Amino acid sequence: MTPIKTLLTVCVLVCGFAHAQSYPDKSITLVIPFAAGGPTDVVARMMAIPMGKSLGQPVVVENVNGAGGTIGATKVARSAPNGYTIFLHHMGMSTAPALYKKLNFDPLTDFEYIGQVLDVPMTLIARKDIPANNLQELIAYIKANEQKVSLADAGLGAVSNLCGLMFRSAIGVNINTIPYKGTGPAMNDLLGGQVDIMCDQTTQTVPMIKDGRVKVFGVTTLKRLAALPNVPTLDEQGLKGFEVKVWHGMYAPKGTPAPVLQKINTALRFAMADETIKQRMTELSSDIPAADKMTADGLKDHLRAEINKWGPIIRKAGVSAD
Ligand code: ASP
Repeated sequence: MTPIKTLLTVCVLVCGFAHAQSYPDKSITLVIPFAAGGPTDVVARMMAIPMGKSLGQPVVVENVNGAGGTIGATKVARSAPNGYTIFLHHMGMSTAPALYKKLNFDPLTDFEYIGQVLDVPMTLIARKDIPANNLQELIAYIKANEQKVSLADAGLGAVSNLCGLMFRSAIGVNINTIPYKGTGPAMNDLLGGQVDIMCDQTTQTVPMIKDGRVKVFGVTTLKRLAALPNVPTLDEQGLKGFEVKVWHGMYAPKGTPAPVLQKINTALRFAMADETIKQRMTELSSDIPAADKMTADGLKDHLRAEINKWGPIIRKAGVSAD
């Protein structure tokens, strides 16, 4: 090795170490790929506070919306790998490769993995004045008004879209979908009566359901939720095997130094142990992952398994975008 190369190698090691030692010395951006006010945003803003406490610097949420979460993921994949940009996304990371013919990032090679975050159930809801009071009446209403009924979602790659597709295929009706940049803005239109139905996570819907601002027709888990004990599952109402539970993961751009990732992982686990978060998650029937899932391997192994699970299902359903 030439003296110059040796010097450079030493500098990369020493400077990397120095960077990790002083990290973080400014605020950290936590990108989420959906609009403010929606379920992913709720999770991110809740975690940002204790994570910032653990890291000693503020964690600031940035909403990079659009294309079902793929715009935010692309931005993070191309960000500097210095620990100042991190990413929270849900299971859309595992469905995007099959849904998009051209994807500008590879979930399995363009990121570092920090750990799994939360598992959140979904609910099937509708505007509160829809003339139906149970799932069978809702299905009958949809069938009688097929051309008129609209289903709001957050675009191809979003879980609201996936759940909506599963619902449409389970009842055999092709409902019109209206894509939003997140289910936060979609919820505003549902409350205003501009759209009819939506599938969305409990992190946004439980308070709305309890306040009677929307009607609920079922939950997407195989067991009823403690937060909504009187709401039947879709499975028990005849949509056999209907199950979606939304897992989340935290990522950083590929090449982020290991000691920096370690500090972020410590902050993630600190947040998940926070009493306020634990209590809120219980109220929303969401689960904090087991300790071995809140690790890089726990996330990467799960992501790979989910890509392998959803790929064939999506290809068989023939849904994809350019
Ligand atoms: N619930 C959205 C989804 O369908 C995302 C969001 O706005 O948080 O993926």
